[in-house]
Amino acid sequence: MKKELNLAVSPVEAGEPERLKNVVASTLKLDKDRIFQIVVVRHSIDARNSRIRINLSVEVYIDEKPEKAGRPHFNYPFVGNKKPVVVVGAGPAGLFTALHLIELGFKPIILERGKPVSERKKDIAAIHGEHLIHPDSNYGYGEGGAGTFSDGKLYTRSKKRGDVRKILEVLNFHGAQDEILVEAHPHIGTNVLPKVIGSIRETIERSGGEYYFNSRVTDLILENQQIKGVVLQNGDKVEGIAVVLATGHSARDIYYLLEKNNILLEAKSFAVGVRLEHPQELIDKIQYHGANRGKYLPPAAYTMVEQVMDRGVYSFCMCPGGMVVPAATSPGELVVNGMSPSHRGGKFANSGIVTEIRPEDLPKEFQHFGIFAGLEFQQSVEKNCFRSAGESQLAPAQRMADFTVGKKSSSLPETSYRPGITPVSVGDWLPEFVTLRLREGLLKMGRKSHGYLTNEAILLGAETRTSSPLRIPRSEETLEQLQIKGLFPCGEGAGYAGGIVSSAVDGERVAEMIGQLFKA
Ligand SMILES: Cc1cc2nc3c(=O)[nH]c(=O)nc-3n(C[C@H](O)[C@H](O)[C@H](O)COP(=O)(O)OP(=O)(O)OC[C@H]3O[C@@H](n4cnc5c(N)ncnc54)[C@H](O)[C@@H]3O)c2cc1C
Repeated sequence: MKKELNLAVSPVEAGEPERLKNVVASTLKLDKDRIFQIVVVRHSIDARNSRIRINLSVEVYIDEKPEKAGRPHFNYPFVGNKKPVVVVGAGPAGLFTALHLIELGFKPIILERGKPVSERKKDIAAIHGEHLIHPDSNYGYGEGGAGTFSDGKLYTRSKKRGDVRKILEVLNFHGAQDEILVEAHPHIGTNVLPKVIGSIRETIERSGGEYYFNSRVTDLILENQQIKGVVLQNGDKVEGIAVVLATGHSARDIYYLLEKNNILLEAKSFAVGVRLEHPQELIDKIQYHGANRGKYLPPAAYTMVEQVMDRGVYSFCMCPGGMVVPAATSPGELVVNGMSPSHRGGKFANSGIVTEIRPEDLPKEFQHFGIFAGLEFQQSVEKNCFRSAGESQLAPAQRMADFTVGKKSSSLPETSYRPGITPVSVGDWLPEFVTLRLREGLLKMGRKSHGYLTNEAILLGAETRTSSPLRIPRSEETLEQLQIKGLFPCGEGAGYAGGIVSSAVDGERVAEMIGQLFKA
């Protein structure tokens, strides 16, 4: 007999199978020996009060063993001889488009400007060690896209739970941990992500899909408002029945290419700010109400949101036990982001702290860039940041409390940011209208969360790639770009997603639409 049960238990009860069995037996008023197995199907932490509870949904198998549940399984047919669809970009949006196209009987041809994940690792090491940014191979570009070397947080606010479940199952099928199917806030970790991404490539190639690296798209082949294919940097042409543009929001050259081809773009809100790094122990103390985390609770995460002068100031992409990383995609820029290994065991907790920028907020000197005002502003912040710290990947840093009182930091604490940090005030590289909001936002956060506003924490720059300042508008009915038949803007760069899972969901949607519009 199987019984389903929702429980709120202590961290020890959740962490020790025998203790959990006792709780289940007494809840069900059963002899403990009759319980064959307890399968946790949902796990979340409620740390709102000092009595921390773990909410579990469990399946209890009484007097019988569970049927072999097995891991999710997907069948990808051979599509090598089917109609080709060009997919530009091998990030989550492009890869999930490709996988679903295969399921629907189309042959994806993936074009990626960067390198395979193993080669990409070397270029990433060169950023840390030699401060060199390879323009086609870095934290943003290469196999797996921007999410490959990340925390791999898979949480999304998307309401389409069914779609999200499939994304998690596909990732699990390709080697991600079973826990991602159970945790309320799942994450994969930067040590596991490259293997998952490599396994997705194996599926695509085994099914007859084509995958080309070092293949930057530099032009579109258009005929009578219809796309026929794309041109690569070496002049090669690649054609297909449709083109999916999943190039992410760092590929500024793609927006300029669209503009050159008179393809409509729309300005949208985006966000800029800093990356804030605390000792993880301090965040644990705050989030777990002073208690020692012990071995049954994970390194704590947090979310902060405040309103300042009519704009949101909020935490973004929080990485417990993680590292701050140099995520620029071009030389001459300084961009930071965060990543964590699967165990999140590092000494530091980092998070973006950003404020919303609407097109109308942009300083006058950027207005003449028209539709590109946001993009140019974003890039100017990155360049200022780069210059402020001595024109390398050394990041400007300021202690948090010093920032809130307008004081330059005379010394800096230890950091996880491997290229190194140097004391520079945030106001030296970020415009005043942004720093004012960040300062007020952090003061408000500090008032709400005792201990959060501290000089043990530092602000590093620049956190600018949270979202795209542009959208590539598409038809609601067909998901095609509004003017060009067969062109499908997709994922974060198109402005229709933010984060790994929502980009993947968008990829699935686009593939589904291609399946409806074109016969396989
Ligand atoms: C360090 C870091 C940590 C992150 N952590 C998380 C996290 O924990 N959770 C989360 O949800 N999100 C995280 N993100 C954000 C997440 O990675 C992105 O939201 C997501 O990858 C967007 O997916 P995408 O496929 O739309 O675009 P991208 O992942 O940006 O992929 C676009 C791809 O297109 C390629 N490309 C660009 N231009 C061209 C061209 N002209 N020709 C050919 N190829 C091209 C690029 O090389 C890239 O591989 C993180 C990002 C970074 C940088």
